[in-house]
Amino acid sequence: MKSLKHCLVLLSLLIAQQGFAQKDSIAVFPDSAKVMEDLFFLASDSLQGRKTNSQGNKIARNFIIKRLQKVGVSAYVQDYTQPFAFGKDSIPAVNILGFIEGFSSKNYIVISAHYDHVGMEDSTKIYNGADDNASGVVTLLALAKYFRENQPENNLLFAFFDAEEMGLQGAKHFMQSVVMDTSRIKMNINLDMVSRGDKNEIYAVGTYFTPYLKPLLNEASKDKSIKLLFGRDIPKKKPYWVNASDHAPFHQAEIPFIYFGVDDHPDYHKITDTADKVNPDFYLEAIRLIKDAIEIFDANLDEIVYGK
Ligand SMILES: [Zn+2]
Repeated sequence: MKSLKHCLVLLSLLIAQQGFAQKDSIAVFPDSAKVMEDLFFLASDSLQGRKTNSQGNKIARNFIIKRLQKVGVSAYVQDYTQPFAFGKDSIPAVNILGFIEGFSSKNYIVISAHYDHVGMEDSTKIYNGADDNASGVVTLLALAKYFRENQPENNLLFAFFDAEEMGLQGAKHFMQSVVMDTSRIKMNINLDMVSRGDKNEIYAVGTYFTPYLKPLLNEASKDKSIKLLFGRDIPKKKPYWVNASDHAPFHQAEIPFIYFGVDDHPDYHKITDTADKVNPDFYLEAIRLIKDAIEIFDANLDEIVYGK
């Protein structure tokens, strides 16, 4: 009798412990240590500013591909890579495309971030590009892991674009290429500079063209400690960020888009855009906000129509 009681106590302890562990693993998003470790790596001197067609760019690419493989994100194209060349000198560049299948739809949401940056100057000065745009790349990796464990309704395409800094070349190539039927893309969410909490605020640009998205974004931001701002997307009014990053070719194709990004800061496109300037509390909360927004967009994608 005594031993049975003992067993029951042990059993209930075990169940309680397991319940706690489960709850714990659900609550923790993103993995903050991993996020900061990834950010410091991608923005480290050893990657030499990740300029398109450089050794550092290739190291970043291999890192991203390895991580996608590890979390079980499928390759959308062979080896995850979409090589292309651009300009009169035919500069080679490579987009990285990963894919998570939705459970109920054939439509796509493209979530994008450019992984290139501007490289070096005089072979001594390194443009680390922590905020621009290691921050977006690391967010995409955290989202890929999350949605692999929490299957979305719609297909998600994770696009790590190259050569953004040379005129949005990767995104332009993707939209002109034949790797997918672009009429199936119902939305683009582009991340470029999402980690600097200097003002504790982040912009969601693009609701001017698709106003339906505004209440959805407010829903995602209501329990967050950072401020979500709109605007910078009104034609003929400055600053105008609609053509400023990889969301532009999607906008031109009249695909609803949201661009997430912080305001320009003194380290923008300077050698001082380093990982130590990032405020982890802000950055992690921005990642949570973006994740929640994507989940809401995913659940309402049929209603999201350009111009409405
Ligand atoms: Zn950028």
